[in-house]
Amino acid sequence: MTNSSTPTGYDVAVLGGGVAGCVLAARLSEDPGRSVCLVEAGPDHGPRPADWPRKVLDARALPRDDVWERHGAAHRIRARILGGSSCINGAWNTWGSHADHAEWTRAGGERWSATALEPYRLRAMERMGLRAVPDDELSVWASAALLAARDLGHEEVDMAAPGPPGCGRPLLNAVDGLRFNAAFAYLDPATRSRPNLTILGDALVDRLDIRSGRAHGVRVVLGGRQVTLTADTYVLACGTFGTPTVLMRSGVGPAAHLKEHGIRCEVNLPGVGADLSDQPGVFVPLSPTRELNAALAAKEADGKLYVSRMLIRAASAYCPDGSWDLHLLPTAGPPLFGGLPPGQYEAGVSVFLMKPASRGHVRLRSADPAGPPEIAPALLTDPDGRDIAIVRSGLEQVEELASAMKSLAAPRAGTPAHALPDDELRSRVGTYWHPVGTCAMGPAGDPRAVVDGQGAVHGVAGLRVVDASILPTVPAANTQLPVLAAAEMLAEALTT
Ligand SMILES: Cc1cc2nc3c(=O)[nH]c(=O)nc-3n(C[C@H](O)[C@H](O)[C@H](O)COP(=O)(O)OP(=O)(O)OC[C@H]3O[C@@H](n4cnc5c(N)ncnc54)[C@H](O)[C@@H]3O)c2cc1C
Repeated sequence: MTNSSTPTGYDVAVLGGGVAGCVLAARLSEDPGRSVCLVEAGPDHGPRPADWPRKVLDARALPRDDVWERHGAAHRIRARILGGSSCINGAWNTWGSHADHAEWTRAGGERWSATALEPYRLRAMERMGLRAVPDDELSVWASAALLAARDLGHEEVDMAAPGPPGCGRPLLNAVDGLRFNAAFAYLDPATRSRPNLTILGDALVDRLDIRSGRAHGVRVVLGGRQVTLTADTYVLACGTFGTPTVLMRSGVGPAAHLKEHGIRCEVNLPGVGADLSDQPGVFVPLSPTRELNAALAAKEADGKLYVSRMLIRAASAYCPDGSWDLHLLPTAGPPLFGGLPPGQYEAGVSVFLMKPASRGHVRLRSADPAGPPEIAPALLTDPDGRDIAIVRSGLEQVEELASAMKSLAAPRAGTPAHALPDDELRSRVGTYWHPVGTCAMGPAGDPRAVVDGQGAVHGVAGLRVVDASILPTVPAANTQLPVLAAAEMLAEALTT
């Protein structure tokens, strides 16, 4: 499937073939006069879904084969495959609040406003074939949660558009249980047949050659050999965990940290790898009744059991009026990790903090491109304790919702989750898998800024970053659709 013509001398080299990378490669190669090379560390399974691993297609579960670390902690999960994390994710699509756009326009200018991004949001939705959750994919649990949410005063809203808080179903890039990933959507057979597009799978980006404030080439490990690929413009799209490590290996990052690893500092940018932001979540398990287990078993036998198909955008006491800072997510089905005896399922409700204040980091453990980086999400660690207070407030709302559904699953004995001591709450925290912020955009004068509003790296000509890492704050949403829309917008910005 890979076009392996001589890997050098392109107009644009897109480094990282994930969600943003697939958008960039497709849009930039629309002009037949522009040669584009897409470089992805993971495999390219080609244009025909029939040639892809079954697990990657099955939208009923989160596959964990095509990832960077098979046995790492949950917060380290990231895809290594053409199509990126859209091949292993929940295929949910939601949009954030007006507060997100206010934060992004402050950092990157008007192109990040809700109005300016709107055409790109619509373009991405169309290309990904997004559609609403059909009725027959709602389990008894999801249907009961929708009714309970309405009874508790949550209005039904469009989850994939800017708007008020409320409840509803997300939009899906999955049809009849098949996950339609960004590689299918953007690198379809017609796009792949363009003579000006080269796709290199199983090609690991090591580092860029940066001298005198310009990118001159990129070192790639391809078929066990080191090759140098050249282009007029390099666009990094290796994701929130991958992109800062490539920059640091290339000598762009915090000078002291580069020195620790014997890397010559070309541009001192302290923001590279800093300010990692992800949405923490706590799951409240309930005890399913025999009736709920039987209903879920029947749904599974029918091939239509999806663990979650509705959500609530809810507000804590800390949230500005008209917005939301929590997602409440009722789930019922096989556990995400581990197993239960046949006919038994896990049911409960998770709360996710959508606008965390806590910040972590990504750093190198070594200068070896094959070595795993240090990833410290630092969830619920902000010094003011604001994040944990909002999670507690969300847990009270979870308990209220669960109480309204107790005929299907009973609350468990013991201290209610909202009243647990801080340490115990932190020990239960997981992630929503929406990390951003490690190459944040901002004006050149901002010491934490890595790129400008068009993704151009401060201090390096011919180098851009276009992926989730440039978002300075995580939206009050799942991040796939915002990243798709941002990549659509920045692909256009690159060519005009
Ligand atoms: C388990 C999980 C579940 C999720 N569920 C949802 C969901 O339901 N809805 C939602 O909206 N969002 C979800 N997300 C988040 C969403 O998938 C991401 O926000 C989105 O994929 C980010 O796009 P990206 O292009 O920045 O990175 P990615 O899509 O992760 O792509 C990065 C790509 O770069 C490649 N790469 C990295 N380093 C190198 C290198 N050195 N050389 C070559 N290639 C490299 C990787 O292999 C990968 O293909 C989920 C994420 C995960 C991990």
